[in-house]
Amino acid sequence: MTEHVITLKNFFEEARAGRLTALRCGGCGQLVIPPKEFCPQCRQRQWHSVPLSGAGTVVSFTVIRIPPRGRAAEAPYAVAVVRMDEGVSLLGRISDVPLNVLKTGMSVKFRPLVSEHQTVIGFSPA
Ligand SMILES: [Zn+2]
Repeated sequence: MTEHVITLKNFFEEARAGRLTALRCGGCGQLVIPPKEFCPQCRQRQWHSVPLSGAGTVVSFTVIRIPPRGRAAEAPYAVAVVRMDEGVSLLGRISDVPLNVLKTGMSVKFRPLVSEHQTVIGFSPA
């Protein structure tokens, strides 16, 4: 039996469609996101896809005031480490939250930021 296991490429395709998927290691049970080739804990490659609810909490964040080339119009914006309810942490861009209101401990929900050429992991208020 071949099991469909998510790769980095379809991780972003799924994210674009609004689905956030983690991988659970069949060796040690570690949950990772985004997908990695080998388990960082036990070095095995026995992944099982785990759909996440998309709900999480802001653990820390950084305000980007000087953005990468071509994104000047988007600054300032915040990039946060969000701890998902399932226990994995993920880096994402915060949207729909004024920067002076954003704080750690805030409940957020995954929302993909889709543009023509790319999908960015985003979070907005829960
Ligand atoms: Zn493992």
